[in-house]
Amino acid sequence: MTTRMGAPRLEIDLGKIGHNARALHRLFGARGVSVTAVTKAVLGSPRVAEVLVENGITAIGDPQIENIRRMKEAGIEAEFTLIRSPMPSQTRQVVQYADISLNTELGVIKRLSGCAAEKGKPHGIILMVELGDLREGIMPSELGETLEETLELNGVELVGIGTNLACYSGVKPTEENMGELSAIADRIRNRYGIPLEVISGGNSANYQWFVSTPDLGQINHLRIGESILLGRETLHRDRIPGLHTDAFTLVAEVIELKMKPSAPADAGCQDAFGNRPVFEDRGTIRKAILAIGKQDVEVAGMTPRIDVEVLGATSDHLVLDAKDADVRVGSEIAFDVNYSALLRAMASPYVTKQYRDASPVPAEISVPVSVPEALAQICEAQVDSCP
Ligand SMILES: *Cc1c(COP(=O)(O)O)cnc(C)c1O
Repeated sequence: MTTRMGAPRLEIDLGKIGHNARALHRLFGARGVSVTAVTKAVLGSPRVAEVLVENGITAIGDPQIENIRRMKEAGIEAEFTLIRSPMPSQTRQVVQYADISLNTELGVIKRLSGCAAEKGKPHGIILMVELGDLREGIMPSELGETLEETLELNGVELVGIGTNLACYSGVKPTEENMGELSAIADRIRNRYGIPLEVISGGNSANYQWFVSTPDLGQINHLRIGESILLGRETLHRDRIPGLHTDAFTLVAEVIELKMKPSAPADAGCQDAFGNRPVFEDRGTIRKAILAIGKQDVEVAGMTPRIDVEVLGATSDHLVLDAKDADVRVGSEIAFDVNYSALLRAMASPYVTKQYRDASPVPAEISVPVSVPEALAQICEAQVDSCP
């Protein structure tokens, strides 16, 4: 048994994450699809990254170069991809720490080329194509121009194309849009005579398409975060068979427990966040207040593991209907978290991170557990001044 740490805390079961990573690596690999594991929801935790690598993952992606830097400096050996188009002001760090980046802007690719040539460190480019989700991506009609110019540049190597769906607009991966990406890949290979190794079809939302399509076409790569960490596909948040959905447990402590009315006698004004709250009158209830709040977690993304109900929250208080649950002041209550609750809890300096080991982790791997620590590391990084 590990010793109990303070609340609120996020307990991270490395064994379950490792199991999920291994299972998905095998599942996708069985049809020739390689996986870049995405670590943004755990802020690039080296402890998590190490477990991913121990379980067959050889490529890690994160949108924050600071997270990639932290993993590299902790000695994680993997291919690192920056999965967001680089900030022009950070191209030097991107070339230094990432092997590959996802790109949509020729001007940025040119800066990467300059840095890569200067450092003598080749940098891989995946061009992102817009196929309907309307977040990042080059319009298919404009892809040729960016591609041709990229092929001319020193220091950068075009390793593939990709797309991202189901993130911003909720457009799902289908036979049609995946087929379109495959067709684009075929056209590029034929026209330019280049191998175009990586055809990256998307993220955890591609699961249902992957398991049901008779033909994957040219798609041979996915970038997977949530399915590894939380065991779910992301179109309907269904559990993926055989995966753990409870690798993360958020624990908070009860600081008040009293019989109180469920609804205020006279409301109608704004709450602390400028909303006008609506209350369901359940008469007098057993109300519990927990020391955690909106600053620490996406409250709507918390699901209690016992029979109590979340009624609402402010910055630092969570209000529950404790029903008949066996809780008192000082009790701890455990919650499942969804992706946004996980992300926020990981980023909160007030939430302690407690790792439960899958296997002994080398002592030299130090984990920044709080935002101030993480920020301190980031601030050491030089501000970029690439040409
Ligand atoms: C976050 C992200 C992913 C991973 O998404 P999941 O839903 O966590 O699998 C993949 N690609 C890009 C570009 C992302 O930003």
